[in-house]
Amino acid sequence: MKTSATEKLLNSRPFDFSAENKKLFVQSFKENILNHYEKHEFTRKFWNKLKFHPQDIKTEDDLHLIPGTMVHLFKEHEFCSVKKEELVLVLTSSGTAGQKSQQFLDQLSLDNVKKLALNIHMALGMSNDKQYNYLCFTYDPAVANDLGTAFTDELLTNFTAKKEVFYAIEWNEDKKTFELNEEKTVETLKRFAVSGVPTRILGFPALIFEMIEKHHLQLNLGSDSWLQTGGGWKGKSEKEIPKHEFRVYIEKHLGIPQKNQRDLFGMVEHGIPYVDCEKGNLHIPNYARVFVRSPFDLSLVKKGEKGLLHFLCSYNFSYPAPSLLTTDYGRLGSCDCSIGGDTLILEGRAGVTKHRGCALKALEFIKE
Ligand SMILES: [Zn+2]
Repeated sequence: MKTSATEKLLNSRPFDFSAENKKLFVQSFKENILNHYEKHEFTRKFWNKLKFHPQDIKTEDDLHLIPGTMVHLFKEHEFCSVKKEELVLVLTSSGTAGQKSQQFLDQLSLDNVKKLALNIHMALGMSNDKQYNYLCFTYDPAVANDLGTAFTDELLTNFTAKKEVFYAIEWNEDKKTFELNEEKTVETLKRFAVSGVPTRILGFPALIFEMIEKHHLQLNLGSDSWLQTGGGWKGKSEKEIPKHEFRVYIEKHLGIPQKNQRDLFGMVEHGIPYVDCEKGNLHIPNYARVFVRSPFDLSLVKKGEKGLLHFLCSYNFSYPAPSLLTTDYGRLGSCDCSIGGDTLILEGRAGVTKHRGCALKALEFIKE
């Protein structure tokens, strides 16, 4: 299998949008879709039916020609472009409506996604060699023997040196379920605040917000502490606070500067992390493309206008989702920070069915 263009792309800087670098994405994308065309029957037939062939992609301007595969198909079928024996990791998150999000990774694709995630976080200034205490609103992946969580945690805690890592969600042997150990979490946070070592909190915004409210937390974790959120307010959307207000609130109650509060948007099926810059805008790296399409005829809408999000990526050779058409609304924006490129503005889900993803699982751990 030929993957040299993708290797080159992932060795390039994620927010370098020079003509040369953009060309690297086109080459890598073409390499990737040729691979899926050859190895994944459904994808081949689908593109054939729509009279699309990977060779149709020649320049950046051709990228929008690729048909998007609806995200539902990946939830209902186990799509895979390699033999099952070649897979090293299956990332899964299940929603309440029986909808399962998953992604299949072989060793090459896993190495690729780790590399691109590290590159993105480094480019956004989130990585350094200082020591931090970590408070993760997840369960200990070593205890739970959960490869998916271990993968995410490893990714997110490996950008710095680690002093102590505390996992807030524990196994309750009596109830035979995982639950948030609130008291211990609050104690740990208070201990971290006076430890002289900066803190990094990883978790869902709703969980953190509820904990601060419930325990009237008023701490100063220090100007070098960080908050890395992800997963959105799913399942707790009635409590959702606009991002800007949330950032002010966290600075006030935990002493974490706004520039060190970074949200991440990701979809299991897509895998590219869209991460906040210090101004709180999700930047789109050159490792991906985001098209915004009209929900009526899937035509491209103008920059800044709202539509359905269509994601392109090229790193995954085992999972045929290089062109993923989602049911999420969003639009493209820009930011005046030094990162460059377009930013991604999320506008919620399309349709009446509420898909509740992996975030919900963790939110259910909160004791009412
Ligand atoms: Zn920015």
